[in-house]
Amino acid sequence: MEDRAKVKDKKIAVVGAGLVGSLEACMLAARGYEVHLYEYRGDIRTMEHVPGRSINLAMSIRGRTGLGAVGLEEKVIKEHGIPMKARMIHNLDGTTRAIPYNKDGKCIYSVGRRYVNEVLLTRAEEFPNVHIHFNHKLLTTELEKGVMTFLDTSTNQEVTAKADLVIGCDGAYSNVRKQMMKKPWFNYSQQYIPHAYMELCIPATPDGKFAMPPNYLHIWPRGKFMMIALPNQDKTWTVTLFMPHDIFLSLDTPEALLDFFKIHYPDAIALIGKEKLVKDFFANKSLPMISVKCSPYHVGSTCLILGDAAHAMVPFYGQGMNCGMEDCVVLNEIMNKYDDDLEKVLPAFSEHRNPDAEAIVDLAMYNYVEMRDLVNSRLFLLRKKWDDLLSRLLPGTWVPLYTMVTFSRERYHLCISKKKWQDNVVAKIVKFCSVAGLVAGFLFAKTEAAHTLANSFLHQVNSLATKTLAVVDRS
Ligand SMILES: Cc1cc2nc3c(=O)[nH]c(=O)nc-3n(C[C@H](O)[C@H](O)[C@H](O)COP(=O)(O)OP(=O)(O)OC[C@H]3O[C@@H](n4cnc5c(N)ncnc54)[C@H](O)[C@@H]3O)c2cc1C
Repeated sequence: MEDRAKVKDKKIAVVGAGLVGSLEACMLAARGYEVHLYEYRGDIRTMEHVPGRSINLAMSIRGRTGLGAVGLEEKVIKEHGIPMKARMIHNLDGTTRAIPYNKDGKCIYSVGRRYVNEVLLTRAEEFPNVHIHFNHKLLTTELEKGVMTFLDTSTNQEVTAKADLVIGCDGAYSNVRKQMMKKPWFNYSQQYIPHAYMELCIPATPDGKFAMPPNYLHIWPRGKFMMIALPNQDKTWTVTLFMPHDIFLSLDTPEALLDFFKIHYPDAIALIGKEKLVKDFFANKSLPMISVKCSPYHVGSTCLILGDAAHAMVPFYGQGMNCGMEDCVVLNEIMNKYDDDLEKVLPAFSEHRNPDAEAIVDLAMYNYVEMRDLVNSRLFLLRKKWDDLLSRLLPGTWVPLYTMVTFSRERYHLCISKKKWQDNVVAKIVKFCSVAGLVAGFLFAKTEAAHTLANSFLHQVNSLATKTLAVVDRS
């Protein structure tokens, strides 16, 4: 992107230097704005341990596009990302089976949250027009005036600053959004799910190798709860245990924990190690998961929210970061369209992005059920077979939902409407097969043997039809 003189005198404050805020700072700097990036924490590049959420994340095309816009896709994906080409399902009896993400062999990548954040901060610092202020906790904002008050946690002093535009990238519990909620016509809803999550770790083997096949997202679906594991660069695995909060509370002794694992995750005990499992479980806290919808995302031409601040979602579609990074790409596209006229850009962004953000928040909630339950069910696999068959017969026209969401930049709300259309088509094909079977049965069942054969065929078609319709209904 070339420097653009007309925006050079405009100052933009980005609050929150997480994954989305640090990417947004780079993108605005590349457009020529003077950018001030304010972050509550210290500089994570200098910390031994960074407190907070998930250690690694699944990155797909939307996040990659964001990184690509600031020249970092190659670095993050090629030098650091670990490809995960399929889900690896761990059954109760210890057997495993792979379910590929799609028929073309496209994959998602396991990336370290800290690594990606650090790379983005370093990139931001390379722009002379980016100024990073660590240890600055936003306290209040006058949204229409762009006036912000921070607590400088290194001096314990309050500091005020002013910007032409304040962009809140301050996460699911956004302070900027809290101030927007005081405005009329700002809609907001949030939902905590009954499940919580806790991160555990599968260490590398004594000879420094991965303890499980690395190029998979491993899943232990157990109906009411589940566990997943993503590979790390150091050959360890970050394991995330998802289950209802009350079950976490009930596992209050090492014996209770080990008994629970023996029943539900027997193969994981050896992988994690008995002692380590007990030590890590009781040293950790289970954390809640929240889903947030709100609109609009802007106030006049002076304030905007992006990322989790605008649309926090449960993590089951692996899209929170991807969607947040895509926000930055979409905002950039809209800035191009309206030639940086913020009075037009901000409302256009809210209008364009809201249906997509709400769609992926809903899809993530849907996958909350699918991952722990459907992925393990024969009906889910049956529907997957239909999808694979139809996408082979109609390449480009029939794209399964997961593929659209994860491997394309199709607008999220269109992914949902296309899936509904597909469900209709599948239901019609199945009904047609049933009727055709019935007619064939009557026409050709002249002898008793042929009659039995026709009946059995009919029975199978009917059973397939009923099962497929059940899947269509559930989705
Ligand atoms: C268990 C789990 C697994 C996940 N897995 C995936 C995955 O596989 N793929 C995926 O795409 N997404 C995943 N996500 C979602 C992803 O983590 C988030 O969507 C993403 O981190 C959002 O980035 P953000 O920058 O908007 O917010 P955050 O990452 O929360 O960053 C917000 C930043 O703002 C700062 N801040 C907060 N308040 C203030 C304040 N008052 N003043 C100044 N600074 C402030 C914070 O310190 C932080 O640095 C997962 C989430 C969880 C919980």
